[in-house]
Amino acid sequence: MRIVVASGKGGTGKTTVATSLALSAGNSVRFMDCDVEAPNAALFLQPILDTRKEVGIQLPVVDESLCTHCGKCAEVCEFHAIAVIGKKVLIFPELCHGCGSCTLICPEKAISERLDVMGVLESGLTATGMDFAQGVMNVGEPMAVPIIRELKKWNPMSFPYGDDVRGAIATKQSYADGRLLPEGRNDMIEIRDSPPGASCPVVETMRGADFILLVTEPTPFGLHDLKQVVGITRELEIPIGVVVNRDGIGDNAVEAYCAEAGIPILLRIPMERRFAEAIASGKTLVEAAPEYRPVFHSLLQDISARVGA
Ligand code: SF4
Ligand code: SF4
Repeated sequence: MRIVVASGKGGTGKTTVATSLALSAGNSVRFMDCDVEAPNAALFLQPILDTRKEVGIQLPVVDESLCTHCGKCAEVCEFHAIAVIGKKVLIFPELCHGCGSCTLICPEKAISERLDVMGVLESGLTATGMDFAQGVMNVGEPMAVPIIRELKKWNPMSFPYGDDVRGAIATKQSYADGRLLPEGRNDMIEIRDSPPGASCPVVETMRGADFILLVTEPTPFGLHDLKQVVGITRELEIPIGVVVNRDGIGDNAVEAYCAEAGIPILLRIPMERRFAEAIASGKTLVEAAPEYRPVFHSLLQDISARVGA
């Protein structure tokens, strides 16, 4: 079962919910911090990150001695990232998506590729034995999506999510779209901590998930951003539930919206000073308030029942 914890805006308690959910799930959990621009779940879960891999996109490199300047590479590029002007081929790396179409179409085999490093993937185990992985984007990089995509495919440990496993069960169409775990492994839980907002990195994080938990707060800003991210989940046709954090502040507009839209509110976390103090000092919610461990465990069971896992 793959659960994405998301929120329309930063600072709503998304990582607080994601980390506590993971710590309440028992064994067989993989935590994936997909907030590659500002990953911070490691501060709370304290994994020992001992595996590392550089990631990026494959940029085309043209061998001018082979190029006949036919222009086919520029014609095939949807992103206008390559242009042929007279006897010169120009590449615009900031526009390139590394799709490889130009390399494939070049009749002279004049295009090779080089990895343009955009960031790193890191993984390791936490003290509780949780399999942890995160992406970290280099400062100034414009695109987070390629790093998140690689993170989702990465399989540095025994957890069965890599391309090798996908190949081994390629006959199972249900897995090909990322919806199901390999046969016999539906007891395993992957929790993805999404970037905030409602843009492409969020969509990439959600893609292939079985359930999306939306964390919000009962304020006009919370409601506004919740509506935006709900719109994405509707497009992706993935079931959702809401966690209301800092319950007790603000108004009832989030509750009214969820009731009208048919979105279940699965958990309410009250506004308490001790929670804020614990989180500010690097503790998870379930460490600061152990009585919430069974609450998060029940939340997980509720999600399992809704997903049918
Ligand atoms: S497709 Fe190949 S041969 Fe044609 S212009 Fe591009 S690089 Fe040169
Ligand atoms: S790799 Fe794709 S996006 Fe980049 S220049 Fe070639 S065709 Fe365009």
